[in-house]
Amino acid sequence: MVLATSACSRCSAPNAPASSSTGATNTPTTPRPPIIEVHGHIGATAYEEALALADENGIERIVNLSGGNQARGLERHVAAMKRHPGRIAVFFNVPWQFHQDPRFAAEIPAAMERAVLAGYAGLKVPKALGLSVPGPNGGFLAVDDPSLDSIWAKAGELGIPVSIHTGDPKAFFEPITPQNERIEELGEAPNWSFADPKYPRRETLLAQRDNLLARHRNTTFILVHFANNPEDIDYVDRLLDENPNANVDVSARLAEIGRHNPDKVRRLFIKHKDRILFGSDLGVHVRKRKGSTPELSLFLGSLTKGDPPTRASVKTFYDRHWTFFESDHRDTGTIPHPVPIQGNWAIRPISLPEDVLRAVYHDNAYRLIFAPHFARQGVSDPLLKKKTNVTLDP
Ligand SMILES: [Zn+2]
Repeated sequence: MVLATSACSRCSAPNAPASSSTGATNTPTTPRPPIIEVHGHIGATAYEEALALADENGIERIVNLSGGNQARGLERHVAAMKRHPGRIAVFFNVPWQFHQDPRFAAEIPAAMERAVLAGYAGLKVPKALGLSVPGPNGGFLAVDDPSLDSIWAKAGELGIPVSIHTGDPKAFFEPITPQNERIEELGEAPNWSFADPKYPRRETLLAQRDNLLARHRNTTFILVHFANNPEDIDYVDRLLDENPNANVDVSARLAEIGRHNPDKVRRLFIKHKDRILFGSDLGVHVRKRKGSTPELSLFLGSLTKGDPPTRASVKTFYDRHWTFFESDHRDTGTIPHPVPIQGNWAIRPISLPEDVLRAVYHDNAYRLIFAPHFARQGVSDPLLKKKTNVTLDP
């Protein structure tokens, strides 16, 4: 039986109770901890809209991976972030179009340093590295190209994490045929296909990325999309075992993670509870067309077929995440995954113990991103101050 999202009693309100630590029952015990969303893409003019959605879904803070750089958007992102102290951490984007410039290797680390001084909290690297940034000899720039070492080293020196997206789902590297299990999505976005042999193979890209982890032990990496290999959770287990500087986010990959044996997935989350971060790949932009009122544009882990997503879709999207992490498959059977276009199958929830939920939902992101950010800025957490004020002066 497929459980409709609305049937999850604990998912009806933000800060609703999480499941019991035994995982054997749905009896609520404690409230859901405040959530940190580590995988957001928020336009510089959409911070207020993004935070309104966050409030509606029990999300306390967002990491905006689309912070741009000095050439594009930095000043606007800094101004928007300062309007909401402590709620949004902004990550720097490397301007890859300048990679061929001989000054690149020296100037990018310097630009990162200036961005961090301005209040940026991390570095985001997109799949373009490996799959579209031009490299030597007419190919693509390898993820582990030595010309980029100064960037990874600088991130370590500054104490900022690197969220890196390398490769893509296995099905995106297979031919677009009716047999391809992500055909619906590839049909909407054919340019997401890397089946053409001109692209490096997925294993090659992942191996390049994994080289970085070993070469830059002083740098903290967040490998987005479950290290982009949720298809093989033994690989993710090994990767985390072998690389103390590696962490993963779960963004836009519950469809794959939830396909495995739920007890095995649960064991993986418990074993690596300090290394797995909650994120969803939420995109929030405000589109302004001349002469018409600004429109909210939402991205929920992937493209959406049919009507564009609404605030209500965002609620369903997040509720399906909470159900996956908090419910027990023995009670619910299979449930829908949060991003329907990612495949026509259901997943089984993993009923994480409360300490694991707290780490994945909040504590890991706080430790890796927000706490060091506040320390660098020489400030105490503005939200903590607010909470204290509320207690002292109701
Ligand atoms: Zn993303």
